Amino acid sequence: MKTNFVFVAGGVMSGVGKGISTASIARILKEYGYKVTAMKIDPYLNVDAGTMNPTEHGEVFVTKDGLESDQDLGNYERFLDQDIIRENYMTTGMVYQSVINRERNLGYNGKCVEVVPHITEEIERRLRRVAQHQKADFVLVEIGGTVGEYQNLVYLEAARIMKLKYPDQIAFIMVSFFPVPSMVGEMKTKPTQHAVRALNSVGIQPDIIIARSSVPLDDVRKKKVSVFCNVSPRDIISAPDISTIYQVPINFERDHIGKRLLEKFNLKPKKSDGKEWRAFVRGIKRSTRPVKIGIVGKYFGTGDFVLSDSYISVIEAIKHGAWANRRKPEITWINAEEFEKSPSKVKQLSDYDGIIVPGGFGKRGVTGKLRAIKHVRENNIPYLGLCYGLQMAVIEYARNVCGMRSARTTEVDPNTKDPVIHTLADQVAKIKQKELGGTMRLGHYTCRLVPKTRVRDLYGKGSVQERHRHRYEVNPKYVPVLEKKGLQISGVNPGSNLVEIIELPKHRFFVACQFHPEFQSRPLVPHPLFVGFIAATK
Ligand code: GLN
Repeated sequence: MKTNFVFVAGGVMSGVGKGISTASIARILKEYGYKVTAMKIDPYLNVDAGTMNPTEHGEVFVTKDGLESDQDLGNYERFLDQDIIRENYMTTGMVYQSVINRERNLGYNGKCVEVVPHITEEIERRLRRVAQHQKADFVLVEIGGTVGEYQNLVYLEAARIMKLKYPDQIAFIMVSFFPVPSMVGEMKTKPTQHAVRALNSVGIQPDIIIARSSVPLDDVRKKKVSVFCNVSPRDIISAPDISTIYQVPINFERDHIGKRLLEKFNLKPKKSDGKEWRAFVRGIKRSTRPVKIGIVGKYFGTGDFVLSDSYISVIEAIKHGAWANRRKPEITWINAEEFEKSPSKVKQLSDYDGIIVPGGFGKRGVTGKLRAIKHVRENNIPYLGLCYGLQMAVIEYARNVCGMRSARTTEVDPNTKDPVIHTLADQVAKIKQKELGGTMRLGHYTCRLVPKTRVRDLYGKGSVQERHRHRYEVNPKYVPVLEKKGLQISGVNPGSNLVEIIELPKHRFFVACQFHPEFQSRPLVPHPLFVGFIAATK
């Protein structure tokens, strides 16, 4: 079977929307009737993203088969509306680890093992594996970082070699930034000219340039970029800033990116399926009644931009849930530590329509989160707890309703008298041995929903698969007393009997889950827990 590869590389600087561009192009090709998948190359030595700090690298997105990966895989899932799996992510650490393991097993028959060809061959093997296993007509391959960086050179080299071997099966797209400096007041194309030259210098000519800028690209500049970068004006796509990322595929199609790309492979659209997506984007614009959601978490000192990237799936899932209710989401980050310094500030939470405590790790902000949860529980404010947000809700209930003053998680206090949240025996061993990379409870586990509960109604079925990423669990020893005091366990894992979901039946909406529902929320298929949470707000 013939698979086409479309490599997407970035020019000038990062953070201009390469992931959204890749996801949007994937969506467009899918709407034209092709089988498409997308993958991400992260040029870091980390073997997965689980060991990278989210404030530096963005959210750790967990695939259903349990890989801790890059947030762009979440973008691909949301735009393509299909699951992306472990093999669709590659880091330099993974690539080198495979090559070194093979070398240790005499897999290279005494040859000197070199970056070229052995590393480039391993990269190609990983790309082809995705194509074969997933029987894709197109594999979009996003190369992390920016052209000209030392650490992504080997990937460009692998791509160049693939183009040499299969010239009609490879295309290159450059997503580049076009600044409009305030002191000159006009859009500048020179940085992109340099970036394309840098790509040329490693033997690659882009087929399409996506011009990311604050404003649309005009014809004068299109022509200039065309001449200097050696690309037809029809292959330069204007990509100005817009209010919602979900509009991007529609905007790209104004410049006919899909058909231009198909022509490069001598293909034509098989059908045109863009209706559902366009209706969804129209729905966003019609969602005008605001819903104010507060996310209570610990403060990251690196500014709002990084912060929103660290919780991108939570933020997108809130939006999906809001739009499904025709509400306009207004999301505010609330620093949990504020409630530690001045406890009376929790009253401010009553200004919100709903509160979320998302996933998290470690001690910082825990007391503040507990105070926030107490306030929303006692004041009937809709609450959705995600992973750590469930663990915190259980601790708060144990302390303030069941009277266990020393209820804690062993993550914060390993010697607590009442470890209502603790680790399973296998995890204790892993923590002791410092086997910490990729060893949490990860990926899909089954959750059986208890009949006649709120979540059973919301999901509309008796059993679901949800994605996990945690080391700690509700301690089964404490379940009877929690239940006796009115906490409803509404979802459990059938094999282990571990608590998956809790709820408070008498509360307006108080639901928390041990898994991360946000990873499975899609714009066209919003997650039932987020839809239900928003529906329960005023
Ligand atoms: N720190 C908690 C644990 O490891 C929760 C993790 C999370 O919220 N993803 O169990």
